[in-house]
Amino acid sequence: MKILCEVQVVNRTTQANRTPRPLKSTLAIGYKQSARDANGNTKKELEMVLFSGQNKTGSRYKVRDNIHAVHTKFVLDGKATIGFLQPPENLLIKCDPIQLKGFLQTLKLGMDGKDAINLRLNIAAATAIPQKAQPQVRMVISKRSEYPIKGFPRTLKSLTINNSQLVKLSFEVCSLRNLTKLDVSGNKITKIPPELGRLALTSLHLGSNCLGELNDWCWLRGTKLSQSLGELDLSSNGLTHFPPPLVKFERLVSLNLNHNLLSRLPFAIRRLQALRKLHVCSNKLESLPAAIEDLHIDLLDVWGNCFKAFNAEAAQQLAQQTAAANTPQPLWLKAARSVANYKLPLPAGSVPAVLIELICEAPKCLCGQLCYALRKEDLLQRVVQPKFTNIKNLTYSREHQIYADVVICGPGCSASVQLKALFSLMFP
Ligand SMILES: [Zn+2]
Repeated sequence: MKILCEVQVVNRTTQANRTPRPLKSTLAIGYKQSARDANGNTKKELEMVLFSGQNKTGSRYKVRDNIHAVHTKFVLDGKATIGFLQPPENLLIKCDPIQLKGFLQTLKLGMDGKDAINLRLNIAAATAIPQKAQPQVRMVISKRSEYPIKGFPRTLKSLTINNSQLVKLSFEVCSLRNLTKLDVSGNKITKIPPELGRLALTSLHLGSNCLGELNDWCWLRGTKLSQSLGELDLSSNGLTHFPPPLVKFERLVSLNLNHNLLSRLPFAIRRLQALRKLHVCSNKLESLPAAIEDLHIDLLDVWGNCFKAFNAEAAQQLAQQTAAANTPQPLWLKAARSVANYKLPLPAGSVPAVLIELICEAPKCLCGQLCYALRKEDLLQRVVQPKFTNIKNLTYSREHQIYADVVICGPGCSASVQLKALFSLMFP
């Protein structure tokens, strides 16, 4: 009989622990076949063998006339001690109580000289019970034929599925609760289930898919994902606009939007205060929001865009796109401006969510005043070659100048005058 248990070995004479702490072990009891005696009968000798990770060949203990003591008081708690005379060692055993009870009964039968089925283990050939293999935490699938038929191990922390022609991310993948890294780039994904938003991913690679086809961003509204994600790759997806829920990803450090069809970035991007790397090369950007200066960007890549001066039509379109359907009560704006001016903290639940959104996302005038999404009295202006002093590395095509859109809170604002002095202005 063999049991899987934890054993600590203590020497009674020296009081020294041969194993300083309990070790995962296999304990076996059975007969050792030895040479025939004078009468021609095989002598059967009862033995116990202890295997552990450190001791793969096993320590052997004779059982008959060699037991010093067996303590079974705590057997129902899964604990027992077996002491041997030679060597003078105690085995402190921790095990499943039912298994332990069975093992001690077998030992008793053996000591009484009875032959039980449980004892017919050929101790010479006894080996350790194989410990359970380490749970699988990483899986890489690089072609369709490697997709697991039996499903994914629930223990996965990192999953990569490339070039497998996936059209939709499966619900099963979205329910791998331990997942922190998911890379499904190079497929044909058009839709992602909202359940993905419930995973606490830190890294998500969705490059070279077709998410711009449906523009369904429900999954980005999941609170777990929006509070955990640090790295997002949405490059080469045919995106025509910046996914709106993305501005709430306040832990996002790296965002890759290369090779899409974006013509503008939202003013609300200023909410992404953790952002350090922003890749928007090879898009159709006509300008950048001046709000980008409110971030702390180490690397901004806007190479290969089509920055250009305003035309009246585009300005009107932009105003329509940015303006919300419901203009809030002037009181909201007043409250939001006060909270922003006094830099009051915004713990969740303290202020209505609408107000938080307004404070975090509404465009800001150069004077610092919050402007509610382009009302009539806010003036939208586009400046050429803005001095982005907060951006450490800026990559852009030298043949194009960069334009930035600035919002002015009203015609009387002093920032308007400053602007004229600082930049060459292009009025709509
Ligand atoms: Zn102003």
